[in-house]
Amino acid sequence: MLHSGGDQTGAVLMSCFDILIRGGTFFGMTDGSEPVPATLAIKNGTVSALLAPDSEAEADYVFDAKGMFVTPGFVDIHMHDEFFADTDTVQHCLIRQGVTTAVAGNCGSGPAFYKSALARPKPWLHLSYLVGNCAALREEVGRTDRYTPSTKEEIALMRELLRDALRDGAMGLSLGLEYAPGASYDEISALASVVSEFEDGIVTVHIRYDDDRCVGAVKEMIDLSRENNVRLQISHLGSMTMGHTRECEETIERAMADGVDVSFDCYPYDAFCAKAGSAVYDDGFVKRWKGKGPEYLEAVSGKYRGRRLTFETLAEMRREEPMSLIVAYVMDREEVENCIANPACIIASDALFTGSGAHPRIAGTFPRALRILRERGYSWQDALRKMTVMPAERMRIKSGRLFEGSVADVIVFDPEGFIDRATFQDPFLPPDGLKLVIIKGRVVLMNGDISPAPQGDLFRRG
Ligand SMILES: [Zn+2]
Repeated sequence: MLHSGGDQTGAVLMSCFDILIRGGTFFGMTDGSEPVPATLAIKNGTVSALLAPDSEAEADYVFDAKGMFVTPGFVDIHMHDEFFADTDTVQHCLIRQGVTTAVAGNCGSGPAFYKSALARPKPWLHLSYLVGNCAALREEVGRTDRYTPSTKEEIALMRELLRDALRDGAMGLSLGLEYAPGASYDEISALASVVSEFEDGIVTVHIRYDDDRCVGAVKEMIDLSRENNVRLQISHLGSMTMGHTRECEETIERAMADGVDVSFDCYPYDAFCAKAGSAVYDDGFVKRWKGKGPEYLEAVSGKYRGRRLTFETLAEMRREEPMSLIVAYVMDREEVENCIANPACIIASDALFTGSGAHPRIAGTFPRALRILRERGYSWQDALRKMTVMPAERMRIKSGRLFEGSVADVIVFDPEGFIDRATFQDPFLPPDGLKLVIIKGRVVLMNGDISPAPQGDLFRRG
């Protein structure tokens, strides 16, 4: 709808926008829409109108977006912000790369939903949580040994806890099977059947194996989805499936064609990152990764930060600082980028921070994925879909699109200059080229500065 000048009433209407983003290329990302030159008008937290690019309408704040793209804020459905001691690092890093909506608690580590709601009542961006089978369920019922199976009684109790969390509004269940090798198929199937009681619920999974057994681990989850009639998201595929990623994609594609409601995501880096104390670094990893030993591992936090490891230093880190992070340079770049370019693949950051260092995915994922997709021949619109509409639809979240009346979660970036700068040496460096981030109609990032008041909401499923 185009506003134009006019009589007194019209003038009153015209001058009362809160924000105008003038003259950029607008990507609404709604079905069938194409990018158009336009001026976006925002009022009372929502998209108020799409005006002509040279509109002379007025507003309290006008941003000149000539030469820039104006798009929905990115939706990151796989990140971690459940280690509550830190209040803002992960969320700020995500905002600085254009994320305005995120889902935490992945890989089995999400707490009970009421704890998340207490810890994050007013987040910096729109944030929700999955309930993790490790943190919220196994540990909560006393099954602290990750290598042993839960008893029938424990499983019954976990089902109750999960049901409570889903009633409280949790997005779904996250499974961290590599982190809890003792969780049997029967155990996770009993949990998945609780999720299927809830419309819009979903199961996300960090699969059981990251070696030659990964194809079987993907099949295990597809069986679980089919048998329990539950929606499934397979997390950070590339980092779990070294040497077998294409085979895993094909397995998932066949299941999709077969009617299984399954999808997957991937982050655009050829090294992964996990806590020193996790089962990922248990004895046997050299064999799992075909001879890649501790010299392929680098401490990114803790005493050995910045150093490649030996068996001795790795053992010491696992014993004395299990929350420290270790990056494993064991993946193949071409393989990961092929996965990113699969039309079904959603982009997600897996952002993680436990106290000091981090993996650069925390600050660079989205501009980096955009660049890779463009190099692979993607149109801007199709590349943007993988970080807006697709993840929003997967989690059944009302974001990732802009239209009259939609919540004004908007970003503005210079398409050629939007480039990730975070590296393994300097993982928190924000990207260049992101000019403006707006959440619920409020400017939260401008000229690299984040506004002092959080504007996001803790949101619930449905
Ligand atoms: Zn994971």
